[in-house]
Parts: sequence; C-alpha cells; structure tokens
Amino acid sequence: MNIILLGPPGAGKGTQAGILVSERNMVQLSTGDMLREARTSGTEMGKRVAEVMDKGELVTDEIVIGLIEEKLQGDQGGGFIFDGFPRNLAQADALGDLLARHGAKLDAAIELQVNDEVLVGRILKRAADAVAAGQTPRADDTEEALKTRLMAYYKQTSPLIGYYYAKGRLKGVDGLAEIEAVSGEIEKTLDSF
Ligand code: AMP
Repeated sequence: MNIILLGPPGAGKGTQAGILVSERNMVQLSTGDMLREARTSGTEMGKRVAEVMDKGELVTDEIVIGLIEEKLQGDQGGGFIFDGFPRNLAQADALGDLLARHGAKLDAAIELQVNDEVLVGRILKRAADAVAAGQTPRADDTEEALKTRLMAYYKQTSPLIGYYYAKGRLKGVDGLAEIEAVSGEIEKTLDSF
C-alpha cells in the first residue's frame, strides 16, 4: 500500500509514519527529513535549501520531486508513506505520474485533523523539549517561522484535501486523539482496503 499523511505542521505526521514503519514495515519518505539531511551537505543547493526552510517557506517543486523520484527506485518494503509530500497540487500531480511510471498507485491520503491552537502549542513544546534534552531545536520551530509554515499549509497544501477527496482517496482521522488512538484509527483505515 502507498499512502500520504496529510496535515499541517505539528499534526503528528512524522510520529504516525514512524509507527507505520515499525508495525507494517512500510518505508517512510519524509521530504522534510531529506531536506534537513541535504542542508548539512554544505553544497550550494544545501545552503539555498537551508535559507528557505528556516523562513518556513516551501523549497522548489523540482528539488523535492527529484528527491522523491530517487527514493522510489529503492526498497518499497510494505509500501511507501509519503510524509510532508506532496505539499501543493503540482507535487500531487507529479506523485501520481511517478507512481504510475513505477506501475504503482496511491491507496489513501490520510488527513490528520487538528486545530491551530493545538498545533502551535505542540510545535513550541517540541522546540522546548529539544532544548531541555540538550539538543538543537529545529530552526523552523519558532513562532515566526511557524506562522509562515501554517500560511504555506493553508494556501498551498490544504487544497490537496479536496483533490484527494475528488479522487475518492481521502480518509479523515482525528489527529487530536492520543497517539495510540490515532495510530489505531489509521490501522483500521488501512485494514479496510
Ligand atoms: P517538514 O519536516 O515536513 O515540516 O518540512 C520542513 C520544511 O522543509 C518545510 O517547511 C519546507 O521548507 C521544506 N519542505 C518539506 N517538504 C517539502 C515539500 N514537499 N515541498 C516543499 N518544501 C518542503
């Protein structure tokens, strides 16, 4: 099965993807993680990516589609979980084309439904927890970058909810429930196929 986890920053996409990886042997493809890796490479591309990410804006479609394309050639395990990709309609179309070229398809787009106040609280807590643990928090987990990330989500990513609904692929899950309850709901959705 190939699925997308959809939802604003802080909705729990990364957490739920991690659970699916360990329980279903699925392969997590997180463009955010790939980009964070790319920025540490010290290349010109890495530096440009870092600037855009720190502001909370989206990097170019060309870069992220290229990253995903590379990974689709690799091990598929129990299927792919797209986490943080696609983030706009052009990326969604590109993903459909890429999967078709690999003789694969998208089974479900799972929307983690949350509310904004909870999101902001979760993200600022993620930054505070990192500091308390002696780690460096994500540069884009600040209130300022968060505003930009939320705006990017509503302007560019949220139209994907209608897009996948129209394709008959959208499944909504209450993202405000406890982590185990959310993963239980996702499991149920996947088992219904
Ligand atoms: P995330 O870890 O998914 O919250 O992504 C962190 C940052 O990486 C985002 O704020 C964007 O700057 C960038 N990013 C991640 N995925 C994408 C994508 N699919 N398209 C464009 N930018 C992305």
